[in-house]
Amino acid sequence: MRPVGRGDIGKRVVDIQTRLAALGYFLGREGADGFFGPHTENAIRAFQQQRLLFADGVVEDNTWTELVEAGYKPGERLLYLRVPAIRGDDVLYLQKRLGDFGFDSGPADGIFSPALEVAVTEFQRNAGLNVDGIVGETTLDRLRRLHKDGTHEYLVSIPDRLNGYVRKSSLSGLRVSLDPAHGGMEHGSVGVGGVREKDPNLGLAVELARLLEGNGALVQLTREGDVSRALYDRTEMANAWSPDIHICLHHNWNPSAKAQGAATYFFANSAYESAAGRRLAGYIVDALCRELDRVDLHKHGRNYACLREVKPLSVMIEPGFLSHPEEGPALADPGVMAREAAAILHGIEAYLARL
Ligand SMILES: [Zn+2]
Repeated sequence: MRPVGRGDIGKRVVDIQTRLAALGYFLGREGADGFFGPHTENAIRAFQQQRLLFADGVVEDNTWTELVEAGYKPGERLLYLRVPAIRGDDVLYLQKRLGDFGFDSGPADGIFSPALEVAVTEFQRNAGLNVDGIVGETTLDRLRRLHKDGTHEYLVSIPDRLNGYVRKSSLSGLRVSLDPAHGGMEHGSVGVGGVREKDPNLGLAVELARLLEGNGALVQLTREGDVSRALYDRTEMANAWSPDIHICLHHNWNPSAKAQGAATYFFANSAYESAAGRRLAGYIVDALCRELDRVDLHKHGRNYACLREVKPLSVMIEPGFLSHPEEGPALADPGVMAREAAAILHGIEAYLARL
C-alpha cells in the first residue's frame, strides 16, 4: 500500500481516523473529517509509540496492520486455528490470559498458532469445558472469571519455547535468512555524500552471507539485487524457508549530525518480549560496538513486522547513522562492511555458544 501521512485526504484517511477514534485517540474537534492534519498525525505517533512501532506519524503497511488488529476486542468473533492465521488484540488477550494460568502458547504475538490451539484445548480440558480448540463465549468467560476472582491467579514464567528455539549450537548447518531493507525505487534514508540506505543494506547483507556460508551456515537473502519488495512478502519469503535466525538490516538516520552509533532490535509488544531475541540482539550490538568502536545505543524491544512475523528468532540491526559526517560515509566502505559482517558473525557465535 502507498503510505498515508500529513496532508493526505480521502476515504483511506477517514478509515484511519475512524479506527483511531474507536481506540480512544483524540482527533481534534474536527473528528474523522478525511483530512490527515496535525491531530491525526499526533494520534498516529501516539499509537505507534504505544504499539512499539517506528513513530514517524505515517501509516505504512506495518502501522496499518496494527491499526486493524488493535480493533479486535475479545468476544467479538470466534478464535480458532486456520490458514491464514487469525490475528489481532483478541488473540493477544487470549495468549496473555492462558500464559497467566501457566498454559504455554508460545510467544504472545497476537497470532493464532498451532501452539495456541494446544494451549486452548489443555485449558478447556482442565476447566471441564467442551474440548474443541475453539474460543467462543464459554471459554472466554471462564478465562475472564478466573481473571476477576484472582483466586486461581498465579504468574509463572512461560518458557520461550517457540520464539528462539534454535537447534544448532554452531554455525554449521544453521539456516540464516538475511533481509536487506528497501531497494529499487525505495531508497530508504539518504545520508552524507548521497549514500542511499538501500545500498549499504544490501552490501552488508552480501558480505555477511559470504562470511556465514564460509563458516558452514545456509543463507537465504530476501533480495540479491537492487529491487523493491513489499514488507510482508519479505517476511513470508523468510518463513517459507524456515530459518533458524532471521536478520533484518537497516541503517539509521537522524536530522542531528551528532547522532551516531549501533543499535539492535528484538520482538516485543505491550504484553511480551522475546527472551532469545533480547539475548541475540545484545550479543550482536556488543560485538559491533567493541570491534568497530561504535557508540553503544543498545538493544531495544520493538513490534516491527520483520521481528514479529518471522519465526522462530528474528533481530534487526542498524550498524550506524548515515547522517553522521564521519560514520555515514564509512558505512558505505567495503572494508568497514567486512568488519561489521565479522562482528555480527561473532555476535551470533556468542549467542549459539551460550544456548
Ligand atoms: Zn531503513
